[in-house]
Amino acid sequence: MARLIELITLGTGAALPSLERFTAAHLLRDWLGNVILLDAGEGVQHRLRQAGISPTKVEFIAITHGHGDHINGLPGLLQTMYLSGRTSKLTVIAPRYLEDYLKSVIEVEGSEKAFQVDLAPITADEGSYVISVKGRDRLELRWFRTCHSIESYGFVLEWVLGPRLARPVSNAEEAKRLMETGKDVVVPAPLRVAYTGDTSPCENVITSVRGVDVLIHEATFDSTMEAEAAKFGHSTSVGAARVAKEASVRKLILTHVSTRYEGYEAKALEEEARQVFPDTVLAWDLARFALKA
Ligand SMILES: [Zn+2]
Ligand SMILES: [Zn+2]
Repeated sequence: MARLIELITLGTGAALPSLERFTAAHLLRDWLGNVILLDAGEGVQHRLRQAGISPTKVEFIAITHGHGDHINGLPGLLQTMYLSGRTSKLTVIAPRYLEDYLKSVIEVEGSEKAFQVDLAPITADEGSYVISVKGRDRLELRWFRTCHSIESYGFVLEWVLGPRLARPVSNAEEAKRLMETGKDVVVPAPLRVAYTGDTSPCENVITSVRGVDVLIHEATFDSTMEAEAAKFGHSTSVGAARVAKEASVRKLILTHVSTRYEGYEAKALEEEARQVFPDTVLAWDLARFALKA
């Protein structure tokens, strides 16, 4: 079976939304059936609808920090889940200081009566959480501190693949024997996707995302606005590219783009980042990226 992971960048704008760039929301779904939302900016439920994804399918939401452009979509999303007849459990991982806010959102939206919401508070600078174990494969989320104006976290999603046969065998007995003896058995390298949320370029981010396959890094400003970026705990596109280069990642996707770069103007961010890190792509709302594990 092809091991495919799809990233849909639902909201790629910074704090001030525009019609073409909604606030932060990124969806990942994989061949195992996991559907994960990274941040839930305002309007996320509309973007999900446009992407053709039912809100009831989202099983896991990871929130980087408490700024409105990363959490204001939660109340509407939870209400829509409730009104859509959701019954399956939802897990939300978020910094501990958001626990009271999240509890009141759940209470106000009435969703607690219809389906279970498990809150997993982040209580340490780094740690990990097993999202799912399906067959031989496991999906884990690791978090790390970023360098922003408030306590904020980035995430690394890691698909850890169990051992499998190097070549297909039609006979089940033969497959079992090979697996038991370890002959012709391979353990594929894990696939890792990192998401920074909001951050300045900093050492802890570089260390935490080292060697990942895909780095989704914020790029609020262009390189002429380094001072502005540093002041507010954000990055320029070139700053993001330097992180990608230093961390030796395979691919860089730029998101969290200020609405001062309207339409095609935003391409300038991609172009200048490519001077530093060639394998860079600027995300747009509702863009889709296929990743292979
Ligand atoms: Zn933000
Ligand atoms: Zn922020």
